[in-house]
Amino acid sequence: MFGQNCNVIAEDEFFMSVALEEATKAASLKEVPVGAVVVCDKKLIARGKNEREEMQTPTAHAEMLALQAAASFQKSWRLEECTLYVTLEPCIMCVGAILQARIRRLVFGCLDPKAGAVRSLYRLCEDTRLNHQLDVAHGILESDCAGILAEFFSCLRETKRAVKERRGGRARLKALDSKSSVP
Ligand code: ZN
Repeated sequence: MFGQNCNVIAEDEFFMSVALEEATKAASLKEVPVGAVVVCDKKLIARGKNEREEMQTPTAHAEMLALQAAASFQKSWRLEECTLYVTLEPCIMCVGAILQARIRRLVFGCLDPKAGAVRSLYRLCEDTRLNHQLDVAHGILESDCAGILAEFFSCLRETKRAVKERRGGRARLKALDSKSSVP
């Protein structure tokens, strides 16, 4: 039994590391770094990364794109035998799609206290009023999943600050310039 659990953990970590690769790709394209993969019978069948900026579509979350790719690969909207791995706790929209797809198991990396609909704000995967419930595991490669987001947002803040400072600098120069041009 213990051995079996070890295998599941190793498998979860492996597929989460692939989801993290997707998140890294998203970051390099200046998208919020979230990545997802769909696994069926221990085989990776689909990948997705957040592409909201690139596609300018509010629904282009990593999970949505991975689910769409998995459904077209399986030629079926029912993904009953599949596990979805995602680096960040899914939002309401993505949990909605996960339930629609009848995903069997969800594994996510870190919590999203501001939008998470699995543990943080809502617990939609275990709501028996809905017609599907599923197993959930979280905390897999949690620090890596949270780290890539923290790094992305800290770089973003840094860039914004630099732009502001440059603008401030230009404004100061302009002010000096106009003063110096006074006869
Ligand atoms: Zn989402």
